[in-house]
Amino acid sequence: MEVPKDILDQVLSQATAFWAHIVATYSPQKIEFVGTLLIQLFTFWLPSICYMLLDVIAPSFSQRHKIQPAPKQPNRREIAHCFLVVLQNQLLASALHITVLYAASHAGIKSTYRIEASLPAPVEILRDVFLSLLMREALFYYGHRILHIPALYIPIHKKHHRFTAPIALAAQFAHPIEHIFANTLPISLPPQFLGSHVLTFWLFLGYELVNTATVHSGYDFFCHKAKMHDLHHEKFNLNYGSLGLFDWVHGTDKLKKRHIA
Ligand SMILES: [Zn+2]
Ligand SMILES: [Zn+2]
Repeated sequence: MEVPKDILDQVLSQATAFWAHIVATYSPQKIEFVGTLLIQLFTFWLPSICYMLLDVIAPSFSQRHKIQPAPKQPNRREIAHCFLVVLQNQLLASALHITVLYAASHAGIKSTYRIEASLPAPVEILRDVFLSLLMREALFYYGHRILHIPALYIPIHKKHHRFTAPIALAAQFAHPIEHIFANTLPISLPPQFLGSHVLTFWLFLGYELVNTATVHSGYDFFCHKAKMHDLHHEKFNLNYGSLGLFDWVHGTDKLKKRHIA
């Protein structure tokens, strides 16, 4: 069914007016911080909690779609611990974000994302999201492989691998160093390098967060999207990336015999 063009125009002009009002009313720092926090709440916390509630609301449906068997699933105590660690990481990332924004504004540096009254053009959104996806994949793939070097794996990355059968929230169950350098920066830096509009950054961030909650969900939904990363949690030495591009290039898309546990 096609949406009439005048309705589309009306929605777009209302959205433009609403955004222009936000930009005119609040400081760029406030917009960047609050907007980023809201995206995290709606595209990571909310979908993660929905995935996890499936076990309680529809247990038989949940069991039918779980990738790994029931005995491997975490118990309630482990889930509660995961919640606390992820909350700590969220607070740490938000505290660092506020500190950087505060320091930058005192130094007279404006936001590295573009915060302006006009909306980004569709072609610009597509270009920036595509390039950000590639840059994020490179940063995450190599960062993640470095974290599997034994000297770094044991003190840092082993924590993230505690869930051999992951759950959505476990996407951010990680050592604080890993959370900042492997989870947060590979997503937030590419749009800053590109000087992207803050709305493009939020779109990219939202996609990445829904994606990470889904690939850790432990469910076979969305064409088995979780299977690749689920296998990384189960077997350790394959599927380091998210898109699979660098795993294909480096031959880490297939299981090798040696396990680092
Ligand atoms: Zn890993
Ligand atoms: Zn993971």
